[in-house]
Amino acid sequence: MAALTGHEAEVVDAVPTGLLIGGSWRSTDATIDVEDPSTEAVIATVADATAADGDAALAAAVAAQGDWAATGPRERGEILRRAWELITAQADDLALLMTLENGKALKDARAEVTYGAEFFRWFSEEAVRISGRWSVAPAGDTRLLTMRQPVGPCLFITPWNFPLAMGTRKIGPAIAAGCTMVVKPARSTPLTMLRLAEILAEAGLPDGVLNVITTTSTGEVVEPLIRDSRLRKLSFTGSTEVGRSLVEQSAEQLLRVSMELGGNAPFVVFADADVEAAVDGAMIAKMRNGGEACTAANRFLVHESIAEAFTAALSERMGALTVGRGSEDGVDVGPLVDRPTLDKVSELVGDATDRGAAVRTGGRRVGEQGYFYAPTVLAEVPVDARILQEEVFGPVAPVTTFSTDDEAVAAANDTPFGLVAYVYTNDLGRAVSVCERLETGMVGLNQGIVSNPAAPFGGVKHSGFGREGGPEGIDEYLETKYIGIKL
Ligand code: NAP
Repeated sequence: MAALTGHEAEVVDAVPTGLLIGGSWRSTDATIDVEDPSTEAVIATVADATAADGDAALAAAVAAQGDWAATGPRERGEILRRAWELITAQADDLALLMTLENGKALKDARAEVTYGAEFFRWFSEEAVRISGRWSVAPAGDTRLLTMRQPVGPCLFITPWNFPLAMGTRKIGPAIAAGCTMVVKPARSTPLTMLRLAEILAEAGLPDGVLNVITTTSTGEVVEPLIRDSRLRKLSFTGSTEVGRSLVEQSAEQLLRVSMELGGNAPFVVFADADVEAAVDGAMIAKMRNGGEACTAANRFLVHESIAEAFTAALSERMGALTVGRGSEDGVDVGPLVDRPTLDKVSELVGDATDRGAAVRTGGRRVGEQGYFYAPTVLAEVPVDARILQEEVFGPVAPVTTFSTDDEAVAAANDTPFGLVAYVYTNDLGRAVSVCERLETGMVGLNQGIVSNPAAPFGGVKHSGFGREGGPEGIDEYLETKYIGIKL
């Protein structure tokens, strides 16, 4: 097992490893091992919370809520702004930390640090723009005052694939709106969130506003919090399966809920598209974060007249990527996050080839140690292949063809998911018509990325509900109160 280099060890050792509750770091008897997916070596151990620790974290958030809601919006915004500056100043070390626990290539980790930090800058600017409304009732006898207030203590549950940004997308608007929170990051990538919590404290966030718990007893710790009447809001990013069970649990208290769930993004290339531009976009839509993104293009639907040109060019670009330890220079694609993810990718490729798909590049594991998988392009993928129905969450691009626009739209929508779709066409009328007919929360039109802190990110159907980012992002953390005033 390869050890960490000197600087890598320094970056990891600097991270607090306890639970952050009410401004104090608490250790626990049990601990969680954090593994480097490149080497399978344990690089750190962090605290393993019990249900009692979860309860203490919620109590701390509840205790801090009143004062925090009364803090001036400018001050809340400036804490976020300072946190953005601090993250930006140490972007390289944060990116390295993320790469070590998640495996992603350093360039992906750097991009995530920028993207994740931008939520703090965006919501620092939104904090002072929370406003209400004053109007005259139609009959003229009363006045209608509408005000917006923080929803109250929140619970955030985040996944391992974007350890920073999936947190800042929730924490940023919650801080701006005046909410306190308990954050539970994924057990495999807790270090980035623990470091982020320390940065927020350094930026001046008062004790108890942000509490962080890491645990292996996820269900036992989280469920009582969701059923607790002191909690007012749940925001979850992760799989549809877990999200569905959390929605059921949240019904007891009729919680405000936001769900950012799985995807199965179609990438549709029409005959009139610029093939070179479509391949550039496909590389981003497929390979950003090594394919481990809810927004990753999962199905390539290409018009039959250009399918071979597109597949050949995509295969060449995918085959030229360098796979290796994410923290090493020149690496384009790091390992997958863990063995189950590697096994699932291998299984889905095996299923497709068993049913007749052709491997144009890749199609195999790389090396014996670490969870590396070769960037892969599959052609002639039959419609019943599992890879067209399930989120592959890895560097695999299955290509299928279509002949008419109606066929393309029907295939794109033929999934229970509805997070994002990508469309390449130079025909304006077709672009508008297809975008209108796609059953997704977002569309990348002639671009392979939609994530932007200034835009409302979110899905429909089994991809969830609620929006993160943009002016809509703060609405998730505000209640509307109306006061009728008799003159
Ligand atoms: P996951 O298994 O659902 O885990 C996500 C989070 O939920 C983790 O913190 C996990 O904790 C926690 N969790 C697991 N079981 C739980 C339970 N019974 N009760 C409460 N919390 C529980 O998903 P994942 O495999 O980590 O992440 C990949 C999924 O996230 C993909 O489907 C992807 O599409 C989706 N995703 C969606 C978005 C979006 O914005 N729509 C963004 C990124 C990822 P543990 O670590 O302890 O398991």
